[in-house]
Amino acid sequence: MKRSGLLIVIGVMFVAAIAAQSRQSAGTAHTGKAFRFNKVKEGVYHAVGTGSLAVVGNSSFIVNDNDVIVVDDHVSPAAAWVLLEEIKGVTNKPVTTVINTHFHFDHAHGNQIFAPSVQIIGHEFTRRMLLNNSIGMPLYQNYVTAMPGQIDALRKRIASETDAAAKAKLQTQLQVAENNLASQKELKPTPPNVTLTTQMTLYRGSREIQIRFLGRGHTAGDVVVFLPTEKVVMTGDFLTSGLSNMSDSYPEEWAASLDALKKLDFDTVLPGHGDAFTDKAKIDYFQAYLRDVWSEVGRLKKEGVSAEEAAKRADLTKHKDHFPIQGPGVPPIAATRIYELLDAAKR
Ligand SMILES: [Zn+2]
Repeated sequence: MKRSGLLIVIGVMFVAAIAAQSRQSAGTAHTGKAFRFNKVKEGVYHAVGTGSLAVVGNSSFIVNDNDVIVVDDHVSPAAAWVLLEEIKGVTNKPVTTVINTHFHFDHAHGNQIFAPSVQIIGHEFTRRMLLNNSIGMPLYQNYVTAMPGQIDALRKRIASETDAAAKAKLQTQLQVAENNLASQKELKPTPPNVTLTTQMTLYRGSREIQIRFLGRGHTAGDVVVFLPTEKVVMTGDFLTSGLSNMSDSYPEEWAASLDALKKLDFDTVLPGHGDAFTDKAKIDYFQAYLRDVWSEVGRLKKEGVSAEEAAKRADLTKHKDHFPIQGPGVPPIAATRIYELLDAAKR
């Protein structure tokens, strides 16, 4: 082979190597670790974002004798990609299984990076939603359409910021936002390839991993992952450390479904947002909130108030000791959802 030919071959190989990596995911660049891995029991980790990459929800992972099971995979292919990279710092065992607690973008939009041989398990409803334009729904649309404006606003603030430390902080935020947008552009919603409707149990050596649907609540298809020996439950957004989003919820049924959660024998909750916790009273507080949000918004609807106005006026301040509530009002998406459910019930 002539020298120039050899150089071309090497050049092509180099380009191919770069392409293979960048094809995996755009927007993975970040500084430092993207995740804090909190080990809660032997082989059981809660993964919480550090802020150096947009990950939004939490994930968890379980290191077994021969494999790793990941529960939820974040807001983008990039976030899931980096999660896998950082898990390699804990174990070299392969990820064979992913469990989606529900279909929302901040928990299931990393699905596409997994090889077809990886089992992605979720509720039948989760599969249906990810197959049928879940990204056309307001929850994701509101999120993604706001991004260019947020990026512009950050650029303007950086231009006018004179304090060096504040400027550097804003620059990091800009990088995080730009990388997230780049990854969202590559998004291909990918549904679970294994589904359940009530319960499924995985066995890995002596470890038992129960995947359970406890009734409609945060969505029509949330599942929790329960490790009966370790007494750990991964709850996604069915139960978080704060107030869960209500855009696709059934608030009244949710409170009842949480009774089924209370019957499981666990001592540690790994939620989809916020830090892990052990205080089971949080379930009572959240049930009380759900029942009140339902009755308060329902009362305003009966008075003939618009959903938009009800969102401003619904007064849940009596729950402020347990949740970050500053004054009257609920997220508009929650009021709209309750109006929809009440209208549907009349039909
Ligand atoms: Zn979430």
